[in-house]
Parts: sequence; structure tokens; C-alpha cells
Amino acid sequence: MHRELQRRAPPDAGGRVQQAAELLSDDPDAPREHEGDREVALERADRLMVEERELGEALLRLRAGSYGECVDCGAGIPFDRLKAQPAALRCVACQQRSEAV
Ligand SMILES: [Zn+2]
Repeated sequence: MHRELQRRAPPDAGGRVQQAAELLSDDPDAPREHEGDREVALERADRLMVEERELGEALLRLRAGSYGECVDCGAGIPFDRLKAQPAALRCVACQQRSEAV
């Protein structure tokens, strides 16, 4: 009697779930990625790579003990600025100057 209550799923249940998942992923009506979306995704990946590089440089400066110092004038970059942009290289004044060029 107790065995009836403890009945488990048949041993092939896992395989059937796998099959169902494969069928669902092959659904021809599933929404496809548009060309435009892919371009946006590529741009996003580009930007992420740039951000990753900047963060890598910030980490190097952190280890070198020069993190948070403006690379142009050597002044301390305000903490609020670092909080908003952790990879900031310059103080606000020097950043504006470098972007104006
Ligand atoms: Zn500066």
C-alpha cells in the first residue's frame, strides 16, 4: 500500500522533457532575431568591450596606487564622479578639455 503512494516518475521522464525542449526550440513560429536587433547587439558588445578595457585600466591604476587621480593634472577626482563613472581618467575640468579638442 505504501509503495503505491511513493510511486515515482517513470525512468524515461527526463528523456521526454529533453525531447519536448528540443521540439519547442525548433518551433518555426518562434520569434527570430531581426537584422536591426543584431546590429544593436553588436554595438552593445562593442561598447561593453570598451567599458571592460577602461575598467581594466582603472584596476591597474588602483593597484599602482594612482586610481582616482586625474591623468592630466594629477588632482583627485571627486568621489561622486568616480561613483558615477568608476573608470574616469580625468577630473571634470580636464575631461571637458579633452572632449573639446
Ligand atoms: Zn584634471
